[in-house]
Formats: sequence, C-alpha cells, structure tokens
Amino acid sequence: MNRQDFLRKSSLLFMASQIYVPSTSETNWAGNLTYAAKKIVYPSNVEELRNEILTSKQAKALGSKHSFNTIANTTETLISTSKMNQVISIDSQKMWVWVEAGIKYGILGLLLDKAGYALHNLASLPHISVGGACATATHGSGDGNGNLSSAVCGVEIMKADGTLQRWEFGQPDFNGVVVNLGALGIVTKMALAIQPKFEVSQFVFENLSMNQLKDHFDEIYQEGYSVSMFTHWENKTINQLWIKKRTDAKNIHPVKSYFGATAATNHLHPIKINSPVNCTDQMGIAGPWYERLPHFKMGFTPSNSEELQAEYFVPRKYAYQAIMAVEAIHSVFSPYLFVTEIRSIAADELWLSPAYQQDSIAIHFTWKPDTPNVMAVLPKIEAALEPFEVKPHWGKLFTMSPQKLHSRYSKFKDFQALAKRLDPNGHWANEFLRRNLWG
Ligand SMILES: Cc1cc2nc3c(=O)[nH]c(=O)nc-3n(C[C@H](O)[C@H](O)[C@H](O)COP(=O)(O)OP(=O)(O)OC[C@H]3O[C@@H](n4cnc5c(N)ncnc54)[C@H](O)[C@@H]3O)c2cc1C
Repeated sequence: MNRQDFLRKSSLLFMASQIYVPSTSETNWAGNLTYAAKKIVYPSNVEELRNEILTSKQAKALGSKHSFNTIANTTETLISTSKMNQVISIDSQKMWVWVEAGIKYGILGLLLDKAGYALHNLASLPHISVGGACATATHGSGDGNGNLSSAVCGVEIMKADGTLQRWEFGQPDFNGVVVNLGALGIVTKMALAIQPKFEVSQFVFENLSMNQLKDHFDEIYQEGYSVSMFTHWENKTINQLWIKKRTDAKNIHPVKSYFGATAATNHLHPIKINSPVNCTDQMGIAGPWYERLPHFKMGFTPSNSEELQAEYFVPRKYAYQAIMAVEAIHSVFSPYLFVTEIRSIAADELWLSPAYQQDSIAIHFTWKPDTPNVMAVLPKIEAALEPFEVKPHWGKLFTMSPQKLHSRYSKFKDFQALAKRLDPNGHWANEFLRRNLWG
C-alpha cells in the first residue's frame, strides 16, 4: 500500500469509528454523535451509582454531553452524573469547595458568589459539568490562569469494583487523576480552590491587525485578567479582542483605541452577524465574575448547537509563529469556519493537561456543522502546527495519531500505568480510549 492509500484508509477508518449504530437516541450537545450505549442511567447518590457500576458490563461517565468527539461514548452503560449535582461544603479555612461532579459551573458560580466566593476562571460557557470539564482539561483564558482542572484540590473516584478512593493535592498520583479522560472511574466529588468573590468588566475592540501580534502579543494578553482574540482569518485581522479586567485591577480605565483597534460601540457576539443577546455584558459594565468570565450567559443556549469545534495548544513561546502558520493556510479551511478564538493558559502540573509545565496558547476553531469537510481540513491544520509541538483538546475533534499524541506528553506512560492499576479489567474502556490512550 502506498503512503497516500494508507493515509486515505486510516482516515476512512477513523471516520468510520465515529459512526455508531445507536441503541438510544441520546446525542451530544452538537448532535454530531448519537451515543451507542445500550442504556443511560441517572444515579442520584453513591449507593445508586455503585449499583449501576456493579451491574454494568462496561460503563462510561456522561457529564453535560458537550464533548464533540467519542470520548464519552460507550456501547454498554452510560452513567449520567446530572443528578449528582450538589455543593457539599465550603471550607473557608482551606478555601476549598467540595462539589458533586455533575454540578454545572453556572450553578456553582451563582451559589459561590452568594456565599462570597469565586473560582479563578471559567470556560466560554457555564453549562458544562465540573467532572466532565476537568476530565478533558477544559480552559478559559488568562496569562495567570491555569485551566479549570488546575483549581482541583481533591478528587474522589468510584472504581469499577464499587470502592471509593480519594486523592488530595500533594498526594501521590494526584496530578494524574485530575485530567483523567474518564479512564479511571466515576468522579463522585471534587474540591476546587476558591477565593473571595470579585467583579469583572469586559471591553471589546474591533479590527486589530495581526501585524501587531509580532511585537505586542505579550502586552495584549497581559492587558486583562482574561483575554481572547476572535478572527475569521480575513486580511490578517483579529476581528474582535475581548479584554476581561477585574475591577480591582489598576489599569481598568477604558480607552477608545488599542494598538489600532477601536473600542466597540455596542455589545457583540464573537460571530458579528449573530445577535449578542446570549453573550455576557460588555461595554465595560461591571458584573460578578461568573457572569463575565464566560462569553455566554447561563440562562441561554450559547448557539443553536449547529456547530463543531476543534482546538490546538502550542507552547506560549511559539504563539506568533503558530498563528501565522495557520494564517498561511486559512483559505483551505475558511469555507467551513464560523470563527477562531485564541486564548492563553498558564502552566500547570497535571499529567494529561495540554498546558503541563508550559504556558500555552490555544487556537480554537468553531466550525460549521459539516463533518466530512471539517475532518478533512483538520490534518492540514495539525500539519501546519506540527513544528510547534501541537496538542489537541481532549474533548474536541482531532485526527492526530495516537503515537504522536503520546509523544507530546512526558507523563503519558505514568498515566497509562495509573489507569491499568485503577481499572485492570478495562471497565471504562471505549473506542476513544482504545485508540488514544492504548493505541
Ligand atoms: C458550546 C461549547 C463551548 C465550549 N467551550 C469550551 C471552552 O471554552 N474551553 C474548553 O476548553 N472547552 C470548551 N468546550 C469543550 C467542553 O468543555 C469539554 O468537551 C468538556 O469535557 C465538556 O464537559 P461535559 O460535562 O459536557 O463532559 P462530557 O462531554 O459529558 O464528557 C467528557 C469526558 O469526561 C468524562 N466525565 C464526565 N463526567 C465525569 C465524571 N464525573 N467522572 C469521570 N469522568 C467523567 C466522560 O466520560 C468523558 O470522557 C466547549 C464545548 C461546547 C459544546
């Protein structure tokens, strides 16, 4: 078989592995995956959870179904955590909150704020479960902000034999169990670091030239507590620059223009033609952290879910070069793209975090719901980013080979050993893990 045939065959096999004969009609949020599970169960406490685990042949935790790939899929039992969704306790000495893993960030944010506390950061939308987000190293933005998993201080997991095991920050294997890809068991509870609540003002600027990034990338990302750039890749322009500033910061004063970009005169959606009604308030209007750090409001669906997503992480030191490498091939993928977002993530110590021990930049793609064309352009983007030690988001679409993926994580073998130890009989194995963890 020549190289081209091999590549074509591998990509067809990969595409085929995304297609399942469904036994339930449950789909993920985007609707690009119908879960192949024989049944979905909804335990509401640890005893019910244990019973479901012990009576299942194989099983998989299901959070809020926001992943775009098959990471949460199984052909046996899906165990939804949606009814295990309570705040358990707030420890104001340690500054930890213990929660059940099925709680959504939006609900947790509201409750914490009422009690006078905040989390360090949130993702673009608050509708995702804490357990599911941390399993895939979900992140927001901010030079000083690690991903959401970096706030985890304690984890309790129910293993395939129904026993519970707990890890706290600093204990052996703690850094391995947090970003767990659902491979170790069902996370029942997690402790997250909290801090006193704070307010954030959001400022949006339009039309920043990408030429400014060469010399001012760091300055721009240091301008706010959380900074995001959105681009359609036309005319080397960043269409929108979102700067989220804490109101207790020194440099809060609004300006009319910023490196040639102009302050927006109205609220905007990242895809400008969409209504901003679902977006969190901008125009410098101060508001609580949980209503400003996400781009989308909890009370609304962020879009009509007719989209796909992929996202790639590169070490911060390559930010400008990597962005330019994607820019150079934008005509290949632009027809299928809604928008790209570029965010920054601080380094952490979590074995399977894409930001493990290195400050990183994430280049995200919100795609039109056109699976064949999107899957066809991803290898081209991955190839363009190859010189920059690229890693894909665990919960989004990607085509990178398992071998390459493993080579990007210095602790991969340690995670494999941990997974073997905690799940010797492969109770949580699925097609995604067989390919990407064991492949
Ligand atoms: C509109 C939209 C916006 C998004 N924005 C962002 C963003 O800003 N930043 C970002 O990084 N990502 C983002 N994502 C991706 C999303 O955060 C991840 O896919 C995340 O994993 C979704 O969490 P979930 O609760 O839906 O998990 P699911 O998709 O349900 O599950 C994901 C994985 O977690 C495992 N899991 C879930 N709960 C548990 C548990 N209790 N114990 C063990 N394993 C568990 C599942 O088995 C599976 O392996 C976005 C996705 C969408 C649809």
